[in-house]
Amino acid sequence: MQANWNNSYAALPAQMFTRQAPVPVAAPKALMLNAEHAEELGITFGEDWPLFMAGNQIPQGADPIAQAYAGHQFGHWNPQLGDGRAVLLGEVIGPQGRFDIQLKGAGRTAWSRNGDGRAWYGPVLREYLISEAMHALGIPTTRALAAVATGETILREQGPLPGAVICRTASSHIRVGTFQYFAARDDTQALEALLQQAIERHYQKAQTVEQFLSAAVATQARLVAQWMGLGFIHGVMNTDNSHVGGITIDYGPCAFMDEFVPMKTFSSIDRQGRYAYGNQPNLAAWNMAQLATALLPLTEDREASIARFTEIVQGFGDIFDREYAAVFARKIGLTPSKETGVLVDGLLRMMANIGADYTLCFRALATGESHAHLGAHPDFADWHARWQAAGPTQGALAQVNPAIIPRNHLMEAMISEAVAGDMQLFHVLHEALKAPFSHCDTPRFNAPPDPQEVVTQTFCGT
Ligand code: AMP
Ligand code: MG
Repeated sequence: MQANWNNSYAALPAQMFTRQAPVPVAAPKALMLNAEHAEELGITFGEDWPLFMAGNQIPQGADPIAQAYAGHQFGHWNPQLGDGRAVLLGEVIGPQGRFDIQLKGAGRTAWSRNGDGRAWYGPVLREYLISEAMHALGIPTTRALAAVATGETILREQGPLPGAVICRTASSHIRVGTFQYFAARDDTQALEALLQQAIERHYQKAQTVEQFLSAAVATQARLVAQWMGLGFIHGVMNTDNSHVGGITIDYGPCAFMDEFVPMKTFSSIDRQGRYAYGNQPNLAAWNMAQLATALLPLTEDREASIARFTEIVQGFGDIFDREYAAVFARKIGLTPSKETGVLVDGLLRMMANIGADYTLCFRALATGESHAHLGAHPDFADWHARWQAAGPTQGALAQVNPAIIPRNHLMEAMISEAVAGDMQLFHVLHEALKAPFSHCDTPRFNAPPDPQEVVTQTFCGT
């Protein structure tokens, strides 16, 4: 494995991570390599790539560490989390800039608490497909570079399961919880170094703490608006899973909705619906308030900064509303305006009333088949007439409303087959999800689940 390694995080103050090699696995075996992404990263792999992507061999130039972070989990403060099952091999600089190369499921670290540091096929293959699908859908996200089977058996609630490691890449792994970790310890040296690193990697124009916070708030608002447009539910928007660079990170119990339920929740551990579809903007704003709090030790005039930061965080709502209006205006082929907003609300209300399939319903606007999905609704004829009168640009609709998304029941089927040793469905789905806006010839990939296939719960990625 060859790459241009340049490990800036490992050069930060020592309390920000532990030096940590991945724990070798019993029998690394290739599951998937993302050759196109490797090229974007300037990485050259040889035949022996599974050894590197399993953590059994350390690439020359890497400097493996496990990062420190804390976080609010479901609103409860946890002062110490950290990479308990992930190791950052290092950073590479390639044609598209600097990227973190991280192995997830890489074995126990200093941050593992009671966990085994491992992962099984399910969360690894799920993250692989969903993160790559998100990328193809145009959503800022971590990427998947490789998946390797470990030849080890992992014990989970469901019983013994085959182990795997995913290599994910990211513009950084700096979370709101990373700032919180050092703020909680009054460690301004680390906080300052972290801020500089985050600015360098995400917001090079920011010259002050305030400008950094404003940029983080704006990109987060934009990201969540994009999630909403796709019916995506992250599922575990804890501050440790909230990225300061506004990218989607940590695909645990995430899910795309089939039928539209505005307060839909899938995650088995989200009993109160804290991270329900419709709550995502509020919770993202809450996370930004935690970021603001963690940045306060870096300001000179604390009182003035509290006032200013409060304003910035309160600005999340306006930015989100603007982004949301833009996303949904595009989804119905119009430009944002008050009238467009009324049409969007009307459409979503009809969809919610009859539990229409979120993805198919929007796609049908592009294909002229809306009647098949919403025709039964008493308001549909009127809505459709008003929409047509507003003059939508029908041609653009197929470029924003995907034909296929990684539906939960397909992910479940893919995982069951993979565990049984058959990777065929994984590969076919992967190919199809690379072109989510193209018509897909496999009816099974377009269709909502049959009643007996419906997935009602998703689980954290352990
Ligand atoms: P997450 O579910 O990815 O948000 O992880 C929350 C925290 O639990 C992080 O500190 C993880 O590193 C840790 N964690 C999750 N699964 C494991 C595992 N199997 N072994 C050790 N630590 C884990
Ligand atoms: Mg996490």
